[in-house]
Amino acid sequence: MAKVVCVLYDDPIDGYPKSYARDGLPKIERYPGGQTLPTPKAIDFVPGALLGSVSGELGLRQYLESRGHTLVVTSDKDGPDSVLERELVDADVIISQPFWPAYLTAERIAKAKKLKLALTAGIGSDHVDLQAAIERGITVAEVTYCNSISVAEHVVMMILGLVRNYIPSYQWVIKGGWNIADCVARSYDVEGMHVGTVAAGRIGLAVLRRLKPFDMHLHYYDRHRLPETVEKELNLTWHPTVEDMVKVCDVVTINCPLHPETEHLFDEKMLAGMKRGAYIVNTARGKICDRDAIVRALESGHLAGYAGDVWFPQPAPQDHPWRTMPHHGMTPHISGTSLSAQARYAAGTREILECFFEGRPIRDEYLIVDGGQLAGTGAHSYSAGNATGGSEEAAKFRKRA
Ligand code: NDP
Repeated sequence: MAKVVCVLYDDPIDGYPKSYARDGLPKIERYPGGQTLPTPKAIDFVPGALLGSVSGELGLRQYLESRGHTLVVTSDKDGPDSVLERELVDADVIISQPFWPAYLTAERIAKAKKLKLALTAGIGSDHVDLQAAIERGITVAEVTYCNSISVAEHVVMMILGLVRNYIPSYQWVIKGGWNIADCVARSYDVEGMHVGTVAAGRIGLAVLRRLKPFDMHLHYYDRHRLPETVEKELNLTWHPTVEDMVKVCDVVTINCPLHPETEHLFDEKMLAGMKRGAYIVNTARGKICDRDAIVRALESGHLAGYAGDVWFPQPAPQDHPWRTMPHHGMTPHISGTSLSAQARYAAGTREILECFFEGRPIRDEYLIVDGGQLAGTGAHSYSAGNATGGSEEAAKFRKRA
């Protein structure tokens, strides 16, 4: 029988919800492009419930325990005295969400001698040292597409929020003011602006599709070009390099995975090549941007705004400079964990576990590493290597009630 360790974020500070704002979720038949939603044999949760926090347990306890497996659920993941550090030594499966990542460094993988499956309940497995997983023959899988549209919606919200200066304007209302000039002195329309995405995968393309009706000029950079029909339909301009794209864009949205090729892609030099007054929205991974270079570009006015929900490490320490830099619209890592997304990735996690325990193949599109090499989506979108360096800094975060 297997031991499954599941690392989830904490429950709400006022307790696990007893009721919800809405009574259910809309029914979605398929993802764009036709991929089917997760197909587990059954689920033991109510879609729309909070599944991603500790008490939600991704709806897995009944399924696992009824088959004789052990389930350990914890949010205590960082530092040598953490529950994760203690429990991983005999774990067969470790489940983690990118929002509250269980960093599986080479050192932790070496300690986890029985580990066979590192399962990401979400998208983005950069919290796992993929090189170490390859060398140990550990399978790494994620629930591809489960929250891509959730993130695309968030990106559009953040672009509009920054360009139209929504958050400071909202703050004037809270402060009891009616300071129209203060609100609009940094407020513009997106119409006619040039927006470019770094990567036009599931999220990047969905962002472009959603921005088309705003009459923006649409640009993209990706290693693989989109079909000509899509380029024509959306009137897209493809750029052969990121540098080439950012110099013409008013808004840049980052939608590629974090791997050694993309780590610190947005450094001092890349930012210097952007237009003065450009905005960046990064919901991909914090480490794709150089933390301090972003702060300097906002302070100097070279960037007009920066928003996103991804940081490094996570949780971000209280003194992380992105909490206090000017003109930012940061949130904790939430875009891919709406209640709608949780229902899909909890079902996808269950589907992957069913395959794993029943000896059936995991869908190719869910695989990142398998059989000692990058596989499936991983072979297409990632490069081998490690992007977890520095993750021990997450232990600096102090919980506040
Ligand atoms: P996809 O796999 O559909 O798309 C990833 C795209 O990135 C692919 O088109 C790939 O290109 C491209 N890419 C890979 N490496 C590079 C590179 N060096 N330069 C430019 N493009 C590159 O994934 P999704 O769109 O669903 O998700 C993308 C990322 O967004 C995830 O990896 C994750 O980090 C992040 N994410 C964040 C969430 C959140 O809650 N904030 C939730 C979900 C995802 P190609 O394959 O053509 O080479």
